[in-house]
Amino acid sequence: MTFKDLGLAEPILKALQEEGYIKPTPIQEKAIPILLNRKDLLGVAQTGTGKTAAFGIPILHHLYEQISLRDTRRKVRALVVTPTRELAIQIGESFTAYGKYTGLINTVIFGGVKQQKQVRELKRGVDILIATPGRLLDLMSQGFISFRDLDFVVLDEADQMLDMGFIHDIKKIIAKLPPKRQSLFFSATMPKTIVELSRKMLGDFERVTIKPEQATAEKVEQGVYFVSKPNKPKLLIHLLQQKPNDSVLVFSRTKHGANKIVKKLAQAAIRSAAIHGNKSQAARQKALSAFKEGKLKVLIATDIAARGIDVDSLSLVINYDLPNVSETYVHRIGRTGRANASGIAISFCMAEERPYLRDIEKLIKQQVPRLGEHPYMDEAAEREPSIRPSQKSRNGQSRNHKKRSGSGGNRNRNRQRNRNRNRNNNDSSTRNK
Ligand code: AMP
Repeated sequence: MTFKDLGLAEPILKALQEEGYIKPTPIQEKAIPILLNRKDLLGVAQTGTGKTAAFGIPILHHLYEQISLRDTRRKVRALVVTPTRELAIQIGESFTAYGKYTGLINTVIFGGVKQQKQVRELKRGVDILIATPGRLLDLMSQGFISFRDLDFVVLDEADQMLDMGFIHDIKKIIAKLPPKRQSLFFSATMPKTIVELSRKMLGDFERVTIKPEQATAEKVEQGVYFVSKPNKPKLLIHLLQQKPNDSVLVFSRTKHGANKIVKKLAQAAIRSAAIHGNKSQAARQKALSAFKEGKLKVLIATDIAARGIDVDSLSLVINYDLPNVSETYVHRIGRTGRANASGIAISFCMAEERPYLRDIEKLIKQQVPRLGEHPYMDEAAEREPSIRPSQKSRNGQSRNHKKRSGSGGNRNRNRQRNRNRNRNNNDSSTRNK
């Protein structure tokens, strides 16, 4: 199947051709016909599968077809809500690229900066609005956004929004939307709250699932090195020195950890930069741009900051720390092997992280290949942990894992903190045509 077979408007086909898109990815092949048919959609898929185009293309197609029939004053006709500013910017760039010959305008808004510029843009008129939940709700409650003419709403990365404590904001936003609309809901995982939310939000919907194992196993070459904590920096330096020309994205579980890695690499004369929530938006964008342009070869990121990273030439992802939530592993390695390309993801695993590795392997239904000898091999980490079935909790997670994940109280506090940070520490808007 080609994009032409989908019956898309000519200006969109032209833009896709210029983007070098020849074949729709599996999610696009499944979702675009459903959306062109004006049905609601529940998409279970993560970034890296081509889901932005899966919802962006049909929205642009419909709006393009409608616009000549309607009056020319721009009103918000499509809304995309997404958890992070990086992702919001990324989605805005995609709409701009796919819609460059349609004359449709998109604006991206996120919080943390003065709102005047955003308000000005909204007043001038916009067809497609891409927003993070906090600022969107703020501007809505001040009366700067009208959804009277809204035809489409997309909730993107719903599970991530839930993790970041945005669920109440999302519910409030949805309550303010006109009931007659086409709704699209995307989430990498489907916890109970997300299922309930999708039921509330969607009408008669179709479901499209792109399984994590499809996304990971088929395209990304994976491997794990067993290494003790103190030797992780040395192993990282060793690997980077072997690949001086590759663009490498290194994941750290914590902001503090990310900063420490930058320092350690600097001591070995390897230039890198960290992006995480404590960095200013300007610093994050600067590092990201340098990385995208290939001027900076090594970028250290936390999970939230990395959500919007979309770098065509990214060939290697290193999990310096294994994530304690297995789905995060899938998100991370999805940074490489984008769309139809192939990539490599290497994980460092210390003894304490073995339960995480086991949970990841359970989720992706395959063993992450053990990579051969390296100068910092750790025997304790290498040993298969002996967990008897009786030591497992009912939901299949090991006790160790649960303990390390923190108490419910901590999780709630973290969510609240994330929420505040997202509300307070965000940045300006971008307007794209
Ligand atoms: P996403 O999952 O939306 O973040 O997209 C992942 C990456 O795949 C982005 O770099 C897109 O530009 C790229 N992409 C999306 N659809 C296609 C396609 N049909 N052919 C080639 N690349 C694509």
